[in-house]
Amino acid sequence: MNWISDWALPKIQTLFGSKRDVPENLWHKCPSCEQMIFHRDLERGLHVCPHCGHHLRIGALRRLDYTLDAGWQRIELPKAPLDPLRFRDQRRYVDRLKEAQAKTGLDEAVVVAHGTIEGKGAVVAAFDFNFLAGSMSAGVGEALVAAARLAVLQDAPLIIFSASGGARMQEGAISLMQMPRTIIASRMVKEAGLPFITVLCDPTTGGVTASFAMLGDVQIAEPKALIGFAGARVIEQTVREKLPEGFQRAEYLLEHGILDMVVRRGEMKATLARLISLLRERLPPGLEVEEADLPMPPPPDIAAPKPQARPVAVARTAPAENPANGD
Ligand SMILES: [Zn+2]
Repeated sequence: MNWISDWALPKIQTLFGSKRDVPENLWHKCPSCEQMIFHRDLERGLHVCPHCGHHLRIGALRRLDYTLDAGWQRIELPKAPLDPLRFRDQRRYVDRLKEAQAKTGLDEAVVVAHGTIEGKGAVVAAFDFNFLAGSMSAGVGEALVAAARLAVLQDAPLIIFSASGGARMQEGAISLMQMPRTIIASRMVKEAGLPFITVLCDPTTGGVTASFAMLGDVQIAEPKALIGFAGARVIEQTVREKLPEGFQRAEYLLEHGILDMVVRRGEMKATLARLISLLRERLPPGLEVEEADLPMPPPPDIAAPKPQARPVAVARTAPAENPANGD
């Protein structure tokens, strides 16, 4: 009823712009050094802290943007059964799913896209940790199988950026079944003679570490990424020993031979492009190795072991030659 609230205030708000027009979160706090970073500097630096070099967690779409050349395309993910167990804890699983979908704008915890990396064709799948902790559901399994099929179809390498808490427990055993399924998907790519590269981002844990994420032809990680199966506290309580400094961090795993490289985000795209070239491109004419120069191939029975032969398993279970160990 009063003219100030009815007329003057809206007028002033339209003149100067209402409070809501001011973008929020202009400044971000680095979770590592706790310094403030201006949002433009953060975007320019690919979400790496300019003060301490900490790699902040990023969503799947941003990851694809940083990795693929402009013009990449998302593929539609195959439909998977929603809430197969009709699971409910404090809340219904379907409600949690809907909330995650609204929060991230994604259908599932993984996004699959195809495009080029510095001109070289690639299929890239990226996990989004904001979607129910990047957990692996039947839908995620379907998406990764679709990504592998697409890679084979397009004769392109498959690159997976993982960031996951592991299997999605609301789907019980069905989520655990995605472990062998994603392994089969990675085998499809390998059997087609295509490179399969995994990039382990912070954090990669549980069933994702225990399946496809550790099977890359080349295993890359981002600096300081947490990579492990069980949590450090659980391990410490089980083995009753103090764990070493930097345990389950990318640099520690690199030192102990689990990873091939730790690559900074700013160098990731160029590194992936170089790897694809090394693994795929033929040498220019003149540099090709003559067939006669190649070493003699091993006898055919060793060169092509039959699948049921399982040479590794036989070697492991073979009785020890030392009779002292016989009992
Ligand atoms: Zn920092």
